[in-house]
Amino acid sequence: MTKTNDSKRSGSVDSAPLLDVDRGNAPLKAEIMELFSEIYDSGWFIGGPQVKQLEESVAAATGAKYAVGCASGSDALLVSLMAFDIKAGDCVICPSFTFFATASAIRRLGAQPVFVDIDPVTFNLDVEQVKQAITPKTKAIIPVHLFGQCADMDPIMELAGRYNIRVIEDCAQSIGATYNRKGSGSIGDVGCFSFYPTKNLGGMGDGGIMTTNDAEIADRLRLFANHGMKPRYYHQVIGVNSRLDAMQAAVLNVKMKYVNQYGADRRQNASNYQQLMTRYGISSLVAAPGVDNEGHVWNQYTIRIPDGRRDEVRRQLADRKIGSEIYYPIPLHRQVCFKDLGYEEGSLPHTEAAAAEVLSIPIFPELTIAEQQYVVESLAEIIAGQQEVRKAA
Ligand SMILES: *Cc1c(COP(=O)(O)O)cnc(C)c1O
Repeated sequence: MTKTNDSKRSGSVDSAPLLDVDRGNAPLKAEIMELFSEIYDSGWFIGGPQVKQLEESVAAATGAKYAVGCASGSDALLVSLMAFDIKAGDCVICPSFTFFATASAIRRLGAQPVFVDIDPVTFNLDVEQVKQAITPKTKAIIPVHLFGQCADMDPIMELAGRYNIRVIEDCAQSIGATYNRKGSGSIGDVGCFSFYPTKNLGGMGDGGIMTTNDAEIADRLRLFANHGMKPRYYHQVIGVNSRLDAMQAAVLNVKMKYVNQYGADRRQNASNYQQLMTRYGISSLVAAPGVDNEGHVWNQYTIRIPDGRRDEVRRQLADRKIGSEIYYPIPLHRQVCFKDLGYEEGSLPHTEAAAAEVLSIPIFPELTIAEQQYVVESLAEIIAGQQEVRKAA
């Protein structure tokens, strides 16, 4: 499914959605409906051959030996922590600048999330901070490959090996991403993927998968995702019900064939943005991320708009029918539900600065060059307008 001249609409446009799932799904509709019909007739709705096929192809694509389907990316994290017996009294290191599920999985098991700050350029865990946060209570680290770019895994794995700590990669945004040519999800003890519709491999509902290179860990993941049941109605441990259904797996199997193309199209769009921002002279006014990273799959293209201008820029983009989103406005260490952990304002300065400045703009694979031009042109006009207002004031 390469881009045709048709799908890369030319000419001027007057809107750009943050994400248009229909553009990705439409060309696959007949193939997906055919599989839905087969599954309907088979009566096999949970697990089955479609799920098995997906587990095999995700394992192959990431370079991990095993993959175990589950109900969501959030569950993948929870089940992984359960499989490593993480419990009250244990500490798990993770970023605060991430989606809620990274830390809620830890807290739900009674363990303590230990939030560390990010590298302000990559938005990923600052390894130096990770090192300083390790104590005898540290049982696991959850690096998040945020926005599609891998965290700095070599030093993290080195620390984990030295202190005998588990590494659970949060790969919800990074399917197909690589780090030193290794696939995300094949580096740590477990990789946790999400098939939520906004992810790079998006289903038509919830879904997730866990990858690992270790056969024993794979068995434990499967056990905990199936009520700890082995054999049927004999419960070895207290697990949860977290399974992938056949309809969801069928959609994902169809899309899985294009996952590398989706990543390549997103990389192309990122590089287009970089060039357009330079051409329109705004690359120094908005801090855009670098595009020289081969392994980046750009689940989001996230710029920084400093000096308290971000929210106004976003409002004006919305006026021009340009979709944008703030991932994430409130860092986890400042969430009400984690108040008891005692993190004060200012405790993670790079995280807090990012939360105040980031803005994600459209980057989905089928986004057209005309739409990208419209986005950058609009950003340039909005920023110029703000400078006029400032001068006048
Ligand atoms: C989406 C996401 C999750 C959760 O995945 P779900 O499938 O929505 O449960 C976890 N971590 C990160 C970083 C995510 O982006």
